Amino acid sequence: MKLLKDKVMAEGIVLGNQVLKVDSFLNHQMDPVLMKEMGAEFARRFAGEGITKVLTIESSGIAPAIMTALELNVPMIFARKHQSLTLKDNIFVEKVYSFTKRETNEITVSKKFLRADDRVLIVDDFLANGEAAFGLARIVEKAGAAIAGIGIVIEKSFQPGARLLTEAGYRVESLVRIASLEDGAVAFVEDAPIHS
Ligand code: 5GP
Repeated sequence: MKLLKDKVMAEGIVLGNQVLKVDSFLNHQMDPVLMKEMGAEFARRFAGEGITKVLTIESSGIAPAIMTALELNVPMIFARKHQSLTLKDNIFVEKVYSFTKRETNEITVSKKFLRADDRVLIVDDFLANGEAAFGLARIVEKAGAAIAGIGIVIEKSFQPGARLLTEAGYRVESLVRIASLEDGAVAFVEDAPIHS
C-alpha cells in the first residue's frame, strides 16, 4: 500500500535492528485519513469472505480495526489487556507475550460477543513473532467461530510471525512488509514483479 509505505519512509524511526516506531501516525498520534484508507484496503482484500466480526487487541489495533469494520458494516471487538472488574465470568482468556513490552498479558474477550457462527477477521497494527495474532486466533477457536483471515498493517517479515501463521493455515494480508531494519534503514519486501 503506497500511501502507508510513504508514511513509514517519511516518519518511521528505527530502534535497534528490530523495532519500528510509528507514533506520529499509528501508535500515539493517529492519522485518520490513513486509517480510513487502510480500512478500505482490508475490506477490499477480504471482500467475499462473509466476515461478521472484526477482532483486534487494545490499543493500537483499534483504529485500523474500527475503520475495517465500518467498511465491512460489521461490529468490531477489541480484546482487553487488563481484566475489568465488571468482566470476570463468561470471558475467553489467553496469555500473550508482548514483543515490545517483554511481559505476558492475559487478554480477554467477553463470550457474549463471539458466537460459533461468526466469521472473524483479526486485525493488528504490527506482526513480529505472531504472539498477539495467535492469542486472538485461539480465542476465536475457543468460541467455535471461524477465522476468515488476519489483516496486518505493518508486517516485519524478518521475524517469524507471518510464516508461522501461514503454516498454521491462516490467510495473512499485510499492507506493508518490511524485509529489514538493519543499520537504521527500512527496507521493504519488494512486491512480486509482474510478468506478462
Ligand atoms: P507479535 O505479537 O507478532 O510478536 O508482535 C506484535 C505486537 O507487538 C503488536 O501488537 C505491536 O503492538 C507490537 N509490536 C511488535 N513489533 C513492533 C514494532 O516494531 N513497532 C511497534 N510500534 N510495535 C510492535
